[in-house]
Amino acid sequence: MSRKLRPATQLVRGGLNRSNHGETAEAMFLTSGFVYDNAEQAEATFKNEIEHYQYSRFANPTTTMLEDRLCAIEGAEACRLMATGMAAVHSALLSHLKTGDRLVASRALFGSCHWIVSTLLPRYGIQAEFVDGGDMAQWQVALSKPATMVLLESPSNPMLELVDVPAVCKLAHAAGALVVVDNVFATPLLQKPLEQGADVVVYSCTKHMDGQGRVLGGAVLGRKKWVEEVLMPFIRNTGPAMSPFNAWVILKGLETLKLRVDQMCRNAAAVADFLSERAEISRVLYPFRADHPQHALAVRQMSAGGTLVTFDIKGGKEACFRFMNALQIVDISNNLGDSKSLATHPATTTHMRIGPEERAKLGITDGTVRLSVGLEDVADLIEDLAEALDAVSAPGLRAAE
Ligand SMILES: *Cc1c(COP(=O)(O)O)cnc(C)c1O
Repeated sequence: MSRKLRPATQLVRGGLNRSNHGETAEAMFLTSGFVYDNAEQAEATFKNEIEHYQYSRFANPTTTMLEDRLCAIEGAEACRLMATGMAAVHSALLSHLKTGDRLVASRALFGSCHWIVSTLLPRYGIQAEFVDGGDMAQWQVALSKPATMVLLESPSNPMLELVDVPAVCKLAHAAGALVVVDNVFATPLLQKPLEQGADVVVYSCTKHMDGQGRVLGGAVLGRKKWVEEVLMPFIRNTGPAMSPFNAWVILKGLETLKLRVDQMCRNAAAVADFLSERAEISRVLYPFRADHPQHALAVRQMSAGGTLVTFDIKGGKEACFRFMNALQIVDISNNLGDSKSLATHPATTTHMRIGPEERAKLGITDGTVRLSVGLEDVADLIEDLAEALDAVSAPGLRAAE
């Protein structure tokens, strides 16, 4: 078809490749290998003279459908799937970097991404430096010298700090760097890093794409030449491939991605407004609220505020734990982007290992709660949050129930 299809259509139909049975739903090819008609066909396949599936570590018809669908949504030339979001980040970086290279990253990264940059890369003689992602002056200094790669996350986990993607891409390209954007919090629907100048986009499909808490997955998207010549040899030979079963679950998840993300954003915005009115709370961070420190950038770069709200409860860890333990609907979990609303205390879980000093640099306090807002009726969510906040100021009441 020559017409350019809109995202909601691509989410349902992009990449669909029916077998000769004419099945309605995407077929799940749960097979590790493939057979050849004759030895000549096997030889031609391995010589790249014909297109034929070889082995599901390299490619599989179900994972190809998901790769093609993600390309259509992202506007990318090529995509490779990985077993997890971390395998995607790790493969994007390690396939490209070598000893002596230099990487600049925003400090506010997902915990394991932070570990790769701060601990793993230096082991291989790769110079890795952090900057405060919201501070353009720091990017300017760091990228006044040649660099090989830039890694950034926007909005960041858990403080919803933004990076000016077009501005950083410009500096990075002048420094000779390839820009990798971890776009998990924005989802492919709310922010388009490739259009804003990025070279590579990485996702944890575990989050909004599955969105129903079932499977892990990751994706790397970028130019065809880079994916085929740099990324593909690395993953072919190191083996972080996604299972076709997981790819099938994520294909079905994508069909409802727009419905879910749109509703979750509406719920999150309403929850953020509710929380900002409560006396127990000292700070609410939500990119599309006028009081977010980077609100102007958020509305320039994103089409909605996202599905997460981060806030500080007065009274630190003790008050947070009382609040979380009093929640009746919202679950305590470190996952996000799920149809179920999930609350996290970063200081004692996802961001415990980075230590108090690094947490302070990121603005994470002992009173910080990250709330992934789900698909429940927002009135029920607000009542649940209200009762849990009541319990912060009146501790004995709910415990006695
Ligand atoms: C969850 C997450 C990852 C890692 O993804 P997994 O699927 O858990 O491996 C990376 N980056 C961000 C921003 C995430 O939220």
